[in-house]
Amino acid sequence: MTRTILHVDLDAFFCSVEELERPELKGCAFAVGGKPDERGVVSSASYPARCFSIKSAMPTARALRLYPDLIIVSPHHKIYSKYSRKVMALLFDSAPLVEQLSIDEAFLDVSDDPLPGKEIAASLQKTIKDHFGLPTSWGVATNKLVAKIASEVGKPEGLVVVPPGEEERFLSPLPVQMLWGVGPKTCEQLDKFKIRSVGELAIVSPERLKLLFGERGLDLIAKAKGVDRSAVASVRERRSISSERTFAADVAEYRVLDRSLRRMSEELGSRLRKEGLAGSTVRIKVRWPDFSTITRQARLQQPSDQDGEIYRAASKLFRKAWHEGAAVRLLGVGVSNLGPPARQLELFSHSWEHDENLLKAIDSIRKRYGPDALRRADSLRDAKRTSDSD
Ligand SMILES: [Mg+2]
Repeated sequence: MTRTILHVDLDAFFCSVEELERPELKGCAFAVGGKPDERGVVSSASYPARCFSIKSAMPTARALRLYPDLIIVSPHHKIYSKYSRKVMALLFDSAPLVEQLSIDEAFLDVSDDPLPGKEIAASLQKTIKDHFGLPTSWGVATNKLVAKIASEVGKPEGLVVVPPGEEERFLSPLPVQMLWGVGPKTCEQLDKFKIRSVGELAIVSPERLKLLFGERGLDLIAKAKGVDRSAVASVRERRSISSERTFAADVAEYRVLDRSLRRMSEELGSRLRKEGLAGSTVRIKVRWPDFSTITRQARLQQPSDQDGEIYRAASKLFRKAWHEGAAVRLLGVGVSNLGPPARQLELFSHSWEHDENLLKAIDSIRKRYGPDALRRADSLRDAKRTSDSD
């Protein structure tokens, strides 16, 4: 199956954040970094500074020799982390598999999404710009290697799509050092054989490259041809299952929010039963319009896979966290501490058993006719008015 992998990189991230905090820096040649008299280095250079060949990892003293009027800004790592967390939270909400590479880079696997990768990337690029004021570059390809290089090629504020089958042709004219695993040393060795572009590397005979680099030589050729099978390794562990909804417009109406909690609880219950799991912790997540996010959790008396129990716990948590009129951007329910359902005999109560039989019947109908075939009447009532987008 052809995969769709997105790579996102925040452009000159530290500098972009500094420009938000100090708008007078906008358009200036400046660098975030250590002081020149303390052997500091540049962590991030603004695009105007890059015109003077100033790059990250360069000693600040050298950067100042290249451009004596360069403004040096001391780093504010706490603020960068704060922005990074907000952007990453948005990404994690937007794709089932997200691998954060660093403070300002991530891979998203959107292979299962019916929307084209280009549209997903364009929409996220716009959201990140509109909500956080941060420019990003995106690469869309069939694997991580090519997606990462595509985003690099498009900088700043680029969106480069490499269609399936075009990987090798896309990489061909680029310098070999743009490939992963081609550092200065490898580059130097390749240069001796006049191999400077990825295309030149791709056509070297495997035997020759094996003599030079051993097994790694074959790996280099595969990379030069744009082959990479590594998976997007989601950092989210499957110690919980959750369901979330970002509303198309912020919602402040309790009835709508509560309805959404019930629907998500039903979905979770159904998924737990399908996988033969039960969870003993219920958690909610609420994101406010300014993107600040809270989570609250509660322990159940015993592990549960029942919609009603999950919903009651989630609803109680929500009522404590929410106040009348507060608008909500995203709402989520999760169940963790997963294990096999260990329901104890409840000799004097048949209500739960009744519920379980009912739920089994519901699950079998949903399986046959799709998830919307059957819903409790009270979760149907407002269905038209909720503008949930999953
Ligand atoms: Mg970056």
